[in-house]
Amino acid sequence: MSAGFIDTHAHLDFPDFTEDRDQVIARAHAAGIERIITIGTTLEGSRAAVAIAEKYPNIYAAVGWHPSHVTEAPDELPGELRTLAAHAKVVALGECGLDYSRLPGKSGGTAEDDAAYKRRQRLLFEQQLRLAQELGLNIIIHQRDSFADTLEIIKPFTRKLRGVFHCFVGSPAEMQTIRELGSLVSFTGIATFKNAALVRETLSATPLGEFMLETDCPFLAPVPYRGKRCEPAYVADLANFVAREKNCTLEELSAATNRAAENFFPKLAC
Ligand SMILES: [Zn+2]
Repeated sequence: MSAGFIDTHAHLDFPDFTEDRDQVIARAHAAGIERIITIGTTLEGSRAAVAIAEKYPNIYAAVGWHPSHVTEAPDELPGELRTLAAHAKVVALGECGLDYSRLPGKSGGTAEDDAAYKRRQRLLFEQQLRLAQELGLNIIIHQRDSFADTLEIIKPFTRKLRGVFHCFVGSPAEMQTIRELGSLVSFTGIATFKNAALVRETLSATPLGEFMLETDCPFLAPVPYRGKRCEPAYVADLANFVAREKNCTLEELSAATNRAAENFFPKLAC
């Protein structure tokens, strides 16, 4: 049994990787990270993600519009996303969702500004959920400070599609709620941070086979690279840490996380 892993959430289109993307990808493969999913956050970024997936054999893409960029988004997202999502290597819609961490009210805006911003995030999130359902794809969810609203929006889609709550930092109870909706969670290098006891508690409570691993690179490099640019090769460090926390072998962790990823992203297995 091999102990290869998948980075299920990377942003290889970001300018951080313009200079040395080839080497970053080569280092990932050398570290046993056999497949990488690169995730779009705008239409332009989604186009770039698809182009990267076309160029490299073991790289796949997801296409979507991130909630932090909704003010630049067109009113009707689906048109071009639908075309991009039809690509053989596009394995999901996203990342999309709700992010209330930088509401206009925190920088001088009014309560009405906050309400309008939240409405716009919701509108674009719902457009992407409907498109995912139409295309038979699952969805990569970004949520920050917005758990209750995110659940309310995805509930009507239960059993029609699944979501992954990426970069999960919630409680064991929140993780259970997500599982009850048929969705799942994935963990980043945050699990290795000294101050992330709650994330480790949730990781312990999440059964093997019910979670995935990711970097969210260029952000969130795991210990011992914390604070530096993150890259997909560091899934190997994260996997070592998680195997110790879960008290399992690397081979068991590899089999369980790869199975979860192939179930969630069926086009990965094609
Ligand atoms: Zn991301």
